[in-house]
Amino acid sequence: MGASCTGEVVLSEMISKGILLLRIKLLEPQSVAFKAGQYIALSVPNTKKQSYYSIASSPNRDGEIELLIKEDVTGAGSSYLFSLQVGDSLHFNMPLGTAFLQEDNEHNIIFVAGASGASYIRSMIHYLDETKQLTKRDIYYFLGAREADELLEPEFMHQLAEKHSRFHFIPALSEQEDWDGHTGLVTDVIQKIMPENMVQWDVYCAGSFPMVKAVAETLIEHKNIQPSRFFSDLYTPETKEA
Ligand SMILES: Cc1cc2nc3c(=O)[nH]c(=O)nc-3n(C[C@H](O)[C@H](O)[C@H](O)COP(=O)(O)OP(=O)(O)OC[C@H]3O[C@@H](n4cnc5c(N)ncnc54)[C@H](O)[C@@H]3O)c2cc1C
Repeated sequence: MGASCTGEVVLSEMISKGILLLRIKLLEPQSVAFKAGQYIALSVPNTKKQSYYSIASSPNRDGEIELLIKEDVTGAGSSYLFSLQVGDSLHFNMPLGTAFLQEDNEHNIIFVAGASGASYIRSMIHYLDETKQLTKRDIYYFLGAREADELLEPEFMHQLAEKHSRFHFIPALSEQEDWDGHTGLVTDVIQKIMPENMVQWDVYCAGSFPMVKAVAETLIEHKNIQPSRFFSDLYTPETKEA
């Protein structure tokens, strides 16, 4: 359920096609601890509805959070957040979710995101960078989008990959021909690039439900990922251990 919070918008900026970045200063309470990979439940005014948004910023940034919101002009939560101006306040509960970064091991990691699912992964990558963990293990980040201008912060991710030889950023586009990176479904790109036996790896995945399920099935069936090491708030693979 999390803590009931009030925050104030301190930055509202479009950062890629159809994606808004909101920076929110916590007013009441002024600080809430959370783990990289958790999310908030936004109360949409004048409705009984709640919409969920991953916290896109690192937990090290005390007293503020960032959200990345995909534009949906007919969606209640999305259009409300797009309408907010700097200085406006909003209400939400945080932190929520169990698919956060596991810090009890140094397993290799595969991150997979589609569209606004990149928000969930962003928090974990910023945190791993800040805590100097990107050098300690192999990390592959697969980001699927339709076109290049929908990719979230590709320059930042490419720079990290240049700086850290064990961090790999692999964007894949499904609907753009004039592009010299990977094309097609992210599951096919994963199949091609990743090793056969990934039994010692952890997976974090966000995007549409069908995409997350397809990624889980591909990795468990073809790459030997343990179902209990697949983390997503949208889909939990069945474990055979019960
Ligand atoms: C754990 C989690 C984390 C998430 N993180 C993010 C994130 O970081 N960023 C992000 O952008 N999204 C995220 N989402 C998705 C987000 O919660 C919302 O689903 C999304 O913003 C749409 O919600 P909404 O309130 O804007 O739209 P809703 O009002 O719920 O509507 C959803 C869609 O249905 C349509 N619709 C509504 N009512 C009707 C009707 N009567 N008839 C026909 N169509 C209708 C709307 O037009 C809209 O396209 C996350 C979801 C989960 C579960």
